[in-house]
Amino acid sequence: MRLCFRCSGEQPFGICTRRARRAFAYNAAMQRILAGFFAAAAVSAAAAFVPAQPSAAFDVLIQNGRVMDGSGNPWLRADVGIRGDRIAAVGRLTGAKARTVVDAADRLVTPGFIDVHSHAAEGLARAELRQARPILAQGVTTVVVNPDGGGPVDLAGQRAQLDNGGLGPNVALLIGHGSVRRAVMGAATRDPSGDEIEKMRGLVRRGMQEGAFGLSSGLFYTPGSFADTEEVIELARVAGEYGGVYTSHVRDEADYTIGVVASVQEVIRIAEEGGVVGVVSHMKALGPDNWGLATAMTVRIEAARARGVQVFADQYPYEASSTSLGAALVPGGVVPTIDVVRGNLRRRGGPAAVQIAFHKADRTLEGKTLAAIAGERGVSAEQAALDILAKGGASIVSFNMSEQDIAHIMAKPYTMASSDGGLVLMTEGKPHPRNYGAFARKLSVYARERGVVDFETAIRSMTSLPSAVFGMKDRGVIREGAAADIAVFDPAFVRDRATYLDPHRLAEGMAYVLVNGIVVIDNGAFTSALPGRVLLKSKG
Ligand SMILES: [Zn+2]
Repeated sequence: MRLCFRCSGEQPFGICTRRARRAFAYNAAMQRILAGFFAAAAVSAAAAFVPAQPSAAFDVLIQNGRVMDGSGNPWLRADVGIRGDRIAAVGRLTGAKARTVVDAADRLVTPGFIDVHSHAAEGLARAELRQARPILAQGVTTVVVNPDGGGPVDLAGQRAQLDNGGLGPNVALLIGHGSVRRAVMGAATRDPSGDEIEKMRGLVRRGMQEGAFGLSSGLFYTPGSFADTEEVIELARVAGEYGGVYTSHVRDEADYTIGVVASVQEVIRIAEEGGVVGVVSHMKALGPDNWGLATAMTVRIEAARARGVQVFADQYPYEASSTSLGAALVPGGVVPTIDVVRGNLRRRGGPAAVQIAFHKADRTLEGKTLAAIAGERGVSAEQAALDILAKGGASIVSFNMSEQDIAHIMAKPYTMASSDGGLVLMTEGKPHPRNYGAFARKLSVYARERGVVDFETAIRSMTSLPSAVFGMKDRGVIREGAAADIAVFDPAFVRDRATYLDPHRLAEGMAYVLVNGIVVIDNGAFTSALPGRVLLKSKG
């Protein structure tokens, strides 16, 4: 036994036990003395010597839940303790104290859902829509915005605008290729010069530095359609340098130009040569002529993944899509003639498969199909469409997918959930019901009723899979240290209520929803809290 050279005390672990004991006694005495005079100071001094109590108070304690952690694993019974905006403990927390106790009453407790393809940014910037009830009611706590190559080029400005007024859900930004191209080249249909491509690279770099999670493109839409694959690879490479993703509304979801299979192949090439994670946005085979091609698309994705290319997809669970009448019937700035419209109407399943969602010039058309409008007016469907286009156009709901393709794509382990939905006033038009129901519908119709995927897989597709693909640190999972974005609901009751003719109906079933540790839905009722914020890629 070695002895302390100062006090000759025993020194069994390389520290002087006598001196350590004296120091402890001294501190204990000091605490007692200080307690009399400086109660607050004594508490902080004591904290250095007294181990943290395992039952220390939580801000929120969710008890009696079945925790499905987002990994794809089945649920386990556990309590979830939250401090500030983080999950502080997961497990048996019986007897723990908390300012707010939530009784999950045997419901599922899952991570809040992440919508990887959302058009909600414009709505979220409006004071009356910031809370985003249609989004929160689905259990969605984070939306990824600026999809399809759109959104502003100035992301710092967008972030300030969104953050300043508070938000219901969190928001992650993308930098849009189409917006970047327009900022540098206007509506030019040619290739960029060397100088222009440098400027575009600079704008993508600035967007990534301002916190974007990646680059989005909409190669079906102008001006994205004017870009060749090499241009997009150049810009995707910049996003890749920052660990960002490349998401794409592909060049052709049907057979307008190069076809949907070649368009998926283009995403794969951009991901491979750009050194970036590629995402096929809202993957589908559009139009009866293309039904069945989902298999050809997934075969290509799987071949690419097998050789090490990072490719994923997202999908919303409906047989109808939504876009503008112009983009559907006269895409890419084609001259609108009866012949062009006839061909593209046929491609989309005919005039009975195209329903008007918004038409400013005549609100009475909203909810009616082109076939019905043509019948009322005694004109051809092509003529009715041209008349609507001449009066400023319209947005449409377009019934063009096969349930077999939807199920095939959904069952893939690399398919994330998304809505592709916007956020509008509940009195505005007849928008696609996905705005209100996409996540609830995947859980109720596709998981619970049809069994296309099991519940664990469906939850994973909206939580840990998107957070991993987009590099969101500590979101989309329930574990200690993760962000406290949480949904509590009964898997037997969650459901969408929005329909194509009656779309402005919130989803049902969310008992509690928390965003950054703050309760935004409390026992089925909205609170007034706006705890969402714009996430930064670097910080998640
Ligand atoms: Zn799109």
